[in-house]
Amino acid sequence: MSHAAGQTAARAGGGLLLAGVLLSACSTGPDADDTAAEDGRLLIDGGTVVVMDDAGTVHEGGAVLVEADRIAAILDGDAPRPAGVAVLDATGHLVIPGIVNTHGHAAMSLLRGLADDMPLMTWLNEHIFPAEAELVDPEFVYWGTLLSSIEMLKSGTTTFADMYYFRDDAARAVVDAGIRAVMGPHVIGFPAPDFASPAATLADAAGFMERYRDHPTLVPGTAAHSLYTTSLDDVRAALRLAIDHDAPFQIHAAEDASEFATATELTGMGVVEALESIGALRPGTVLAHSIYLSDEDIERIAAGGAGVSHNPQSNLKLGIPRAAPVVELLAAGIPVGLGTDGAASNNDLDLFDEMDTAAKLHKFTNADPTALPAETVFRMATMGGARALNLHDRIGSLEPGKRADIVLLDARRAGLTPLYNVYSHLVYAARGSDVSTVLVNGRVVVGNGRVLTVDEAEVMERARGFGARVREVIGGSEPELRR
Ligand SMILES: [Zn+2]
Repeated sequence: MSHAAGQTAARAGGGLLLAGVLLSACSTGPDADDTAAEDGRLLIDGGTVVVMDDAGTVHEGGAVLVEADRIAAILDGDAPRPAGVAVLDATGHLVIPGIVNTHGHAAMSLLRGLADDMPLMTWLNEHIFPAEAELVDPEFVYWGTLLSSIEMLKSGTTTFADMYYFRDDAARAVVDAGIRAVMGPHVIGFPAPDFASPAATLADAAGFMERYRDHPTLVPGTAAHSLYTTSLDDVRAALRLAIDHDAPFQIHAAEDASEFATATELTGMGVVEALESIGALRPGTVLAHSIYLSDEDIERIAAGGAGVSHNPQSNLKLGIPRAAPVVELLAAGIPVGLGTDGAASNNDLDLFDEMDTAAKLHKFTNADPTALPAETVFRMATMGGARALNLHDRIGSLEPGKRADIVLLDARRAGLTPLYNVYSHLVYAARGSDVSTVLVNGRVVVGNGRVLTVDEAEVMERARGFGARVREVIGGSEPELRR
């Protein structure tokens, strides 16, 4: 991005919004708000700062100095504080890097609870794809993406990777919500709600990539649904667009046992082998799920540098009778992030919940309580996700020079008091609802648990409206879905 553009955006958006938060969270009074708006500097002071650098630094009573859209400095408890800056009092809070959700379909929050408790292919082919064909339009995607953005911001997620339709409308929602997202052209090998074919999807796709190239929070990236829905040539074309723009690329891979046979039939190769053959296993490619992998597949992914998005709750709910080999993937040096998948298969977008499940799932499947310790899981949710998306120079940790994506959790609550080990609390005890304040790109977007960027009540009203429309279209044939 252009540095100047980011600073302007942060000042224009951040200064105004800061006021409401500082008035209630800081004792320095209204004058400080004016200083913040003018100066663009903010000191988040007095919390337990969980840096997530390689050394695993934690500063008790530390501070984060934010300057415009960047983290300018991390100060330990004893370091002198700069004078003349606005202060956000973080006493009693955990100050952590914004959480990264590496896989999802944001607008599907409008289909949450529509069809549950069935196998993946039945769920997709008999419920989700037909419902989408009938219902998904630009408005659906705009309001659905906004709805998910609110849910994610309020539970501490500051970046999400999205794979859906009507990219321009999804992008508009992301920008309005003030969240960071990776999204863009998405090919699937049958007529989609937005485009009739992969060729049509890709026809002006470079325009999208160019339009958002230097955007402060929207990272343009491409996606192909999977090798079981999309031809290898079309997957290659979407990948090519990502490579040409040095952008992330997402694809579902090895989620279901049937995929290997389908891929072999269509391409003569297994899923990962086929992706390797087109050069897809490069850094910035995110393989969603990656459950059915052979040892050779893991070697291929490690050699290529691609990342994996682990979505334990979606996998568990869809009854996938195997866990992704996360311990092995990490041992091979593969970047692994966490994802929720769409709200229709999870059914929430709270990454704290996902961390808890990930840690416990692998202890269970490995019959080993030392598998995936809490710090490892929290690293997956932050730096691991940033690495998988190839955005680790921008996000994932609280280090000077990175974008100021920062989350404050109120650790004075009953479920988090007393505190012995920050990672233990973050993974096993904290919930998204413990989040009080969220900054994205230096802008305060959640203050005291409230979203400050959009009118939350209006979004809920719209979501209820879409719910009524979904019932009208789908509910008639399935009475149990009406309530
Ligand atoms: Zn998915």
